[in-house]
Amino acid sequence: MILKKLLVSAGALIGIWAIYGPMASAFARKKPKRWGELVLTFDDGPDEIVTPKVLDVLKRKNLKGIFFLTGTAIKGREHIVRRIAKEGHEIGVHGQSHINHLWQSPSRTKRDVQEGYDSIVNCGVVPIYYRGPYGAYNTMTLLQCKKLGLQVLHWDGIHGDWEINPVGKLAYSLNHVHMSGGVVVLHDGRMGKGQIGANEKMVEELEMFLILREKLVA
Ligand SMILES: [Zn+2]
Repeated sequence: MILKKLLVSAGALIGIWAIYGPMASAFARKKPKRWGELVLTFDDGPDEIVTPKVLDVLKRKNLKGIFFLTGTAIKGREHIVRRIAKEGHEIGVHGQSHINHLWQSPSRTKRDVQEGYDSIVNCGVVPIYYRGPYGAYNTMTLLQCKKLGLQVLHWDGIHGDWEINPVGKLAYSLNHVHMSGGVVVLHDGRMGKGQIGANEKMVEELEMFLILREKLVA
């Protein structure tokens, strides 16, 4: 009897580990990295002020980015989603409500990915990537991404761009980590509840970094 109870408990623990353990997040980190190439990604948008500024910078520099959009941020900003797609950038799903999937049930996880996906599709755009808020995934996240044909894309460098830093610090950090390329993550939206004004500063520092990189690479 005791042995049976122990086996049931062990089975339950293995089940929990399989769904929420490091395996799921480790799998999600396998990303399509194009060596030497800089992949610019922007999370938590769209934002009515910051996203257009990012788009303007990318246009000036003739670069394309990947925008990981959050469903709740899209409401009322569908025109910005369409502008992102129209200007040739890729769009990814960043969930519906910016929740951490490490703490969600399988059904809540599935709903969050599906609703996030639907919010984008309702703007007439088909997303092709997925990135979990806080970089967190569980097994259901990955299964639902597979079902929707979404490729999981993590990042190589994160730079605290949601905080207001001394002028030049973010540009320096970007340059230091990404001179030889990789996947950069920046935030044009406010889902992560960063400092007020940080997103606008991010756009200035991004342009500073791109100008610097252009000069160093040329
Ligand atoms: Zn996020």
